[in-house]
Amino acid sequence: PIRVRIAPSPTGDPHVGTAYIGLLNYLYARQRGGQFVLRIEDTDRARFVATSEQMIFDALHWLGLTWDEGPDVGGPYGPYRQSERTEIYREHAQILLDNGTAYRCFCTAEELEAARKQQMAAKLPPRYPGTCRHLSVTDIGTNIAAGKPFVVRMAVPLEGSTTFHDELRGDITFDHSNVDDQVLMKSDGFPTYHLANVVDDHLMRITDVIRAEEWISSTPKHVLLYQAFGWAQPRFWHMPLLRNLDKSKISKRKNPVSLIYYRESGFLPEAIINFLGLMGGGMPTLNPVEVANGSKETEIFSLDEMVQRFEVHNIRLGGPVFDLTKLKWLNGEYLRALSPEAFFEAVRTQVFGDSYIRNIASIMQARIETLGQFGDLTGFFFADNVMPPQEVFLPKKRTLEETLAFAAEQLIVLEATDWTTEAMESSLKKLGEEKTWSVKENFMLLRAILTGSTMSPPLLESLVIFGKARSIDRLRRFLE
Ligand code: ATP
Ligand code: GLU
Repeated sequence: PIRVRIAPSPTGDPHVGTAYIGLLNYLYARQRGGQFVLRIEDTDRARFVATSEQMIFDALHWLGLTWDEGPDVGGPYGPYRQSERTEIYREHAQILLDNGTAYRCFCTAEELEAARKQQMAAKLPPRYPGTCRHLSVTDIGTNIAAGKPFVVRMAVPLEGSTTFHDELRGDITFDHSNVDDQVLMKSDGFPTYHLANVVDDHLMRITDVIRAEEWISSTPKHVLLYQAFGWAQPRFWHMPLLRNLDKSKISKRKNPVSLIYYRESGFLPEAIINFLGLMGGGMPTLNPVEVANGSKETEIFSLDEMVQRFEVHNIRLGGPVFDLTKLKWLNGEYLRALSPEAFFEAVRTQVFGDSYIRNIASIMQARIETLGQFGDLTGFFFADNVMPPQEVFLPKKRTLEETLAFAAEQLIVLEATDWTTEAMESSLKKLGEEKTWSVKENFMLLRAILTGSTMSPPLLESLVIFGKARSIDRLRRFLE
């Protein structure tokens, strides 16, 4: 039976790339009566964000993608969260140590850094110099007895190359001289992505690895691991990356990439799924039989229709453009297809949802004299875009360039905070101190950019209610 998976890492807001790859996996599985697995790859403790996993579940559910096995629904090959499988990885690292395809490396950070500097100076690509590759059993024993921390590295063959078959691209060959002796187990006992990913794909009986193109350079390492374990490989499909109009990889500098942004900005899940399904050309947009019958070309597909008609082999490798204008058009089509009652219901629950209005009301009660004034100060909460008043950008001291640099810095600060007034306040203060910017002016500019006015309800409380995803998008658009 066909088994596929997505394996997101809980490192922040759920990414639109996860939804895109998730959809492709979902369609592939559903078309073949296979199973779709959700695995959480949470072994990178430095980038781990506690709230991220639940946000990933919620976002994928919102989009209507359902999985057959996962941390929340269980399944026969669990646990499906890598942090709960560390013992399994340790055992598997031991297998590789025992059969000589991996070795312990005791090099310190300083030693590695020194080697890297030398390579840089010699204009060589940074690679592990192989210091610990041939340590004697006695040396290894001494180091372990002395309690020296170590990592486990893969012993990549020194010569030759590895070739794997990509189902969309054909054979791809990597010369071993370009494959580093990858760390498999870190000194904290956690596996790296490569080891955990391969061990789990094998143990979870994954038949097809369908992932984004950016992982192609990892695949030879994975293939070497399959060989080191003596396991059969899955099929590999690397999907073209979603791109900006200028063909660069979509990234949060140029596009909103958080699914939370799309949900909070009133995109319909059906429209997003439809849009993502069109990326790459897996859906027929022109059916010759239909055209002969005089019926019109369509780009509107439900998830079920995609299961019927999606064809993975038709995926084109030229990067699909994630065109927000097109997504908006599509979303508009879906909005217009709603009955008036359903549309009203969408407005009532999504634009004017009870808890949203309750939160806004709580900061407005002390600030208005008639209920009729409610809208005067709160319009920005219900708008997609606001225009900052021009006069704030012509202050005595600040040029427009400085203002933009300011906004960029704020963006970084706001992205990093955990979205409470306290966290924002302290990071913004810190920034003010570093840059010797006046705190007052700082807040005024931020207020103008985010609320479109120099008068608003308390700024940070407002931003908490308005939400991180939309606040950051507003700043980002200001920077465009
Ligand atoms: P960014 O550069 O926006 O921070 P990222 O690659 O760091 O993106 P991740 O959180 O690592 O973001 O990505 C989540 C998932 O989405 C990964 O599986 C990744 O492969 C996939 N992904 C990221 N960017 C794209 C893209 N442009 N097209 C398709 N998939 C993508
Ligand atoms: N954890 C990786 C990610 O963040 C998984 C990549 C893969 O599918 O192998 O997407």
